[in-house]
Amino acid sequence: MSKTYDVAIVGYGPTGMTLASLLGQQGHDVLVLERYPSLYNLPRAACFDDEIMRTFQKLGVTAEVEPGTLVQRRYEWVNARATRWSRFTTTTRPPPAGRRST
Ligand SMILES: Cc1cc2nc3c(=O)[nH]c(=O)nc-3n(C[C@H](O)[C@H](O)[C@H](O)COP(=O)(O)OP(=O)(O)OC[C@H]3O[C@@H](n4cnc5c(N)ncnc54)[C@H](O)[C@@H]3O)c2cc1C
Repeated sequence: MSKTYDVAIVGYGPTGMTLASLLGQQGHDVLVLERYPSLYNLPRAACFDDEIMRTFQKLGVTAEVEPGTLVQRRYEWVNARATRWSRFTTTTRPPPAGRRST
């Protein structure tokens, strides 16, 4: 038996996941095609900005996400030998790098 979808998304990375969720919320029938059987095995949301937070709001997941994040105010750059070469704290609002995971 064949089924027809409104949208086909190739790739279940962050872009495909977010798009599928937003379209699904709006009532579209979405097919997602991913070449790998499981999710990428490293954390890839260590930092995200306010635009992403607004998308999380649209998806209704901020209550789950927010407790695991901090507003990013302190910045440290380290080289490949883990030697710190720069460090500063910002008071700008919103901070340039948004939030980071705790
Ligand atoms: C270790 C690491 C840490 C990171 N940390 C952060 C971070 O803290 N904050 C941040 O904002 N960004 C971070 N990034 C970057 C972020 O992960 C990428 O910007 C993001 O993954 C891009 O999402 P995407 O869905 O566009 O592409 P991808 O994540 O590359 O997803 C594309 C998907 O499409 C699938 N695909 C491709 N071709 C096909 C095909 N022909 N058929 C079927 N499936 C296919 C792939 O298998 C993959 O699952 C990090 C990246 C890495 C590697």
